[in-house]
Amino acid sequence: MAMIVQKFGGTSVANPQKIKAVADRVLRSHKEGNQMVVVLSAMAGETNRLVDFAHQVQNIPDPREMDVLLSSGEQVTIALFAMAVKEAGYDAVSLLGDQVKIITDNMHTRARIKHIDTDPITDHLKKEKIVVVAGFQGVTDTGSVTTLGRGGSDTTAVALAAALKADRCEIFTDVEGVYTTDPNICASARKIDRITYDEMLELASLGAKVLDIRSVSFAKRYKVPLHVRSTFTSNEGTWVVEEDKSMESNPVSGVTYNKNEARLTITKVPDTPGMASKIFSPISEQGLVVDMIIQNTRPESNMTDMTFTVPRTDYKRAMQIMKQVAADIGAEGVTGSENIAKISIVGVGMRNHSGTASTMFKVLSDEGINIMMISTSEIKVSCVIEEKYTELAVRALHAAFGLEADNVATVE
Ligand code: ADP
Ligand code: ASP
Ligand code: MG
Repeated sequence: MAMIVQKFGGTSVANPQKIKAVADRVLRSHKEGNQMVVVLSAMAGETNRLVDFAHQVQNIPDPREMDVLLSSGEQVTIALFAMAVKEAGYDAVSLLGDQVKIITDNMHTRARIKHIDTDPITDHLKKEKIVVVAGFQGVTDTGSVTTLGRGGSDTTAVALAAALKADRCEIFTDVEGVYTTDPNICASARKIDRITYDEMLELASLGAKVLDIRSVSFAKRYKVPLHVRSTFTSNEGTWVVEEDKSMESNPVSGVTYNKNEARLTITKVPDTPGMASKIFSPISEQGLVVDMIIQNTRPESNMTDMTFTVPRTDYKRAMQIMKQVAADIGAEGVTGSENIAKISIVGVGMRNHSGTASTMFKVLSDEGINIMMISTSEIKVSCVIEEKYTELAVRALHAAFGLEADNVATVE
């Protein structure tokens, strides 16, 4: 008998029929004698619909109320799932984040899990119930509902698997696993059989939304065996695993894009000590996360321009804060754009191959694509470009690094 945590994403539970099909699939594992903990997302499109409602009512929605609103989507699917199991003649119980309990900090709309009290779940499992938990939500010490950030149901699932010491965590989604790039924009994308935690962390942080980055961090930290696979077939998907030597053979394992960022530039900042701190402290105090930062000094004038990116959803708030900061520090002003995309190549093999970054720059230049920002780490290179070139850039890089289906010897 194994304990298995299975998470089903929005497209897998998009309507009552699909929820019944998911319940049947879970019941098959339950009937084999496994203890089943199921984590569900909201129905496909529901969270976006709720976000849109909020913006129709309040210009910058109140984060606490946003969480009360957004957490409602998962409440619907878990209740329907439990009903489907009961209809099939078995027992299930649905649990919200505050019933589990999944305790988080109070960073509304992007809360972090601090602790999970697993007793209520194990009590129900002992009674042979299927336990179905609302993804994406938690509760603060003081009882406020929180959400974990978009895609957060993956994190709920892996965190539960870690806390319960489950035998494995399976993430069911609308594609067959983790691919060399998004299969929905590149037809020649190839499914990867095994990928390292570190590569998956980079891919997830750089836009491959098939797994939420914090779910991969939990999996790595607590060594949770993680399997990403399709809800609609029984094919083997992708296992996220520890690195072994054979995995360094290709310089690039995947190409990602992220259209969810925006760029801000604060111009003519006095080039004196402490300016970076004055610019970024107010941003972090508001809980906003800055990604890439570039500072261009203008030596002739003792001025610098500071350019950085933030999640697009935080653009308005960041702009508001930056205008105030610019006035306070005597900078010229703030410009920005929401029409950018970050394109990245990722691979542990990059450590042993030189010239990977320059190949990327050449591919983009051959396509006539201008690079606005660059950042690198040991196993990734990212470039910010105009959003309209995203698909072109992804396909060109995917081909240039030989990732197409027929091209690459799969790493076993
Ligand atoms: P779910 O609702 O099941 O959580 P998501 O939409 O969050 O599903 O994630 C699955 C989607 O991730 C796929 O439909 C695909 O378009 C996208 N995706 C982006 N990059 C990749 C990748 N490298 N491999 C697989 N899927 C990817
Ligand atoms: N429903 C949430 C979202 O759409 C959480 C998730 O599906 O993972 O972001
Ligand atoms: Mg998701």
